[in-house]
Amino acid sequence: MAVWIEDNKCTGCRKCAKVCPYGAVEVQGERAVLKDNCIECGVCLRSCKFGAICSDLVATPIPDLSGYRGVWVFAEQRGGMLSQTSLELLGCATGLAQSLGQEVAAVLVGDQVSGLAASLTASGADKVYLVENRGLGHYRPLPYVKVLADLVSQYRPNIFLLGATHVGRDLAPRLSARLDLGLTADCTELTIDPKSKNLYQTRPAFGGNVMAVIESPRTRPQMATVRPGIMKALTPDSARRGEVIRHQADLVPKDLRTRILEIVKEQKQRVDLTAARIIVGVGRGACDAEGIKLLSELAWVMGAEIGGTRVAVEEGFVPPERQIGQTGVTVRPELYFACGISGAIQHRPGILNARYIVSINRDRQAPIFEVSDYAVKADLFDVVPKLIDVLKREPA
Ligand SMILES: Cc1cc2nc3c(=O)[nH]c(=O)nc-3n(C[C@H](O)[C@H](O)[C@H](O)COP(=O)(O)OP(=O)(O)OC[C@H]3O[C@@H](n4cnc5c(N)ncnc54)[C@H](O)[C@@H]3O)c2cc1C
Repeated sequence: MAVWIEDNKCTGCRKCAKVCPYGAVEVQGERAVLKDNCIECGVCLRSCKFGAICSDLVATPIPDLSGYRGVWVFAEQRGGMLSQTSLELLGCATGLAQSLGQEVAAVLVGDQVSGLAASLTASGADKVYLVENRGLGHYRPLPYVKVLADLVSQYRPNIFLLGATHVGRDLAPRLSARLDLGLTADCTELTIDPKSKNLYQTRPAFGGNVMAVIESPRTRPQMATVRPGIMKALTPDSARRGEVIRHQADLVPKDLRTRILEIVKEQKQRVDLTAARIIVGVGRGACDAEGIKLLSELAWVMGAEIGGTRVAVEEGFVPPERQIGQTGVTVRPELYFACGISGAIQHRPGILNARYIVSINRDRQAPIFEVSDYAVKADLFDVVPKLIDVLKREPA
């Protein structure tokens, strides 16, 4: 593609210079000039109301996508247990589907999992596409991708959401590549643009310094993975009924390729921080032997779980699976008790769904105070022992 400016039409209004993300347009006198660093991205084309910026790009018309309908959620299950993330996605899908006037469908894949369909309809699914096959008993990428690609090709959904879980992060890119679709990974917000009815997919970018809003206007389904703990599940309504559509998995041995010989469960005790009611957050300010002992005792008297910042993880005081934030987990407790945490931009997305945030920090300017319901400007080594004493005497 080539981009050029027709001098006789340019008025030097500077609009193109303002929109150019690369600073590649300079106005010299009353004429705009493209500089050497222009990458011909074409962003300036629409800004010129005088038709002075030209390009040999032939815009391909957007295909008719009206035949794609419905908001689908991949209902992730393991050993017959639905993941909480799938229920959260159904809650989100319900809001999106209402904005579009379309239905919510869950895609349930596994071996003898039909009993889970009722939970999915109770949590918002109008339809459940059920695929049962012995070869689908445990998650394996190749057969799962094949089954989902068949379903999408046959039923043509408008939107397809998966959790940004271990399985979702493996499955979604494979599926989008198979179907030649775009995919926005790790979304933190999903909305429908009222004008275009496209899905606006928001996710942190550039180390969390900007929130990028991404759309896929030319392909369907619009695919996104969503971080666990971000969306809100609906209160299940067991009276809700939905349609279950059985789909035959057409699997041949070459679709399976791998055999699962044994599943060895990790012995390590894993904690589900996303389900914790109270969390004591450990920051650098508490990162020494005395600090961690104090906060562990506080957590114990409060019946809380311990979580922490990336610094606390890197310093070895909090296990990696308890890191909260952009590259950790997103939590939704009743109370988040931030101790010695500055409130960096990468930590905050993980805690903003807490009902109450209480923070202790000795720096009055600490950004954590901006998002706190109660801010204690003090040294945690003074405050926390007193709090523990009170709680021991008068348990919450
Ligand atoms: C790509 C990327 C991803 C990241 N992902 C994450 C993430 O997922 N989660 C995350 O948390 N971070 C993440 N980080 C790191 C993040 O930028 C911050 O460095 C980190 O959150 C800071 O942790 P902190 O608040 O414990 O430490 P600091 O920022 O050093 O803050 C320590 C605070 O403790 C206070 N303090 C010190 N002593 C006391 C005391 N005795 N009493 C009271 N207050 C005290 C200080 O005033 C200070 O405000 C990421 C960074 C990058 C670049």
